[in-house]
Amino acid sequence: MAEEKQTNYDVIVVGAGPAGMTAALYASRANLSVLMLDRGIYGGNLNNTAAIENYPGFKTVQGPELAQDMYQGATQFGAQYAYGTVEKVELAGDLKQLTTDMGDVFTAKVLVIATGTQQRHMGVPGEEEYGGRGVSYCAVCDGAFFKNKHVVVVGGGDSAVEEGMYLTQLAKKVTVVVRRDQLRAQPLIQEQAKQNDKMEFIFNTQVTEVLGDDNKVVGVKTHDSKTGKDAEIRADGVFIYVGSVPMTAPFKDLGILNEQGYVKTNDLMATSLPGVFAIGDVRETPLRQIATAVGDGAIAGQQIYQYLMNH
Ligand code: NAP
Repeated sequence: MAEEKQTNYDVIVVGAGPAGMTAALYASRANLSVLMLDRGIYGGNLNNTAAIENYPGFKTVQGPELAQDMYQGATQFGAQYAYGTVEKVELAGDLKQLTTDMGDVFTAKVLVIATGTQQRHMGVPGEEEYGGRGVSYCAVCDGAFFKNKHVVVVGGGDSAVEEGMYLTQLAKKVTVVVRRDQLRAQPLIQEQAKQNDKMEFIFNTQVTEVLGDDNKVVGVKTHDSKTGKDAEIRADGVFIYVGSVPMTAPFKDLGILNEQGYVKTNDLMATSLPGVFAIGDVRETPLRQIATAVGDGAIAGQQIYQYLMNH
């Protein structure tokens, strides 16, 4: 007889990034039954990150490698992982009920929202049309297609500059197009980038269109906000790192989001709804780092245990 699929847990963690995997580790180590539910492979944005230099304990570590290690840590005490996008959340009664796009229905006493953020799109002509044909949001995934080629990176934050530096290991030239007159990235990262011969910065410039022939990207159209001039940069690829947006669509009617769509919590990661916690990048928080996500996950794991002792 086929084994019946488990659908009822003490805790469901939606999102298996660093925050979610840490909460799952702590909760399962406290002997709770835990499901990590994710719309993709575990690891979240770690899978899009090349070298990480500011996660304590590692001089440098590759994102996908850290994701694998965290997954092993999270599952060693019995936490399970399932694939699926949450489409419906019902909180009436003692059990939280989640329905996925696969038609699966899972219930739990505690819901942890750890869905993180996804990269913002620029919203310019050609961006969606040439997605996967030269437009990319992931240097680690797609950089190898641009060996010895010229690529444009859009953005001026940590992601744009760090991923741009990663791309210099493959591409012959990386042009970073920055909309203001300065970068937002941390000073140390800026210093490293400035010493990189293959990297070029163009400031005060907005990408207004991604240009392509029928098949692939051939460059971008730009507008210089200082001179008012329009220009074109010929390039084989465009990597877009213009910030991120929270992935909170299934939770939008629960009354727990702020104006930007991030989940509001107290210091103990609890939302205003009993038994609903939020952790990591999706939370309203002053700092979004792997280290802070892991900290959130540890606090939530402990708080969940306390909550279940009293309910
Ligand atoms: P971010 O810090 O929000 O930076 C977004 C960048 O894109 C800014 O330079 C912004 O310009 C620019 N931008 C926004 N909309 C734009 C548009 N429509 N067109 C052109 N440029 C646009 O985003 P992020 O770099 O993805 O980082 C997200 C978070 O993760 C941050 O908290 C960051 O510190 C963290 N992070 C940390 C590390 C690390 O510690 N090593 C690595 C990666 C990410 P303005 O400056 O003009 O707003």
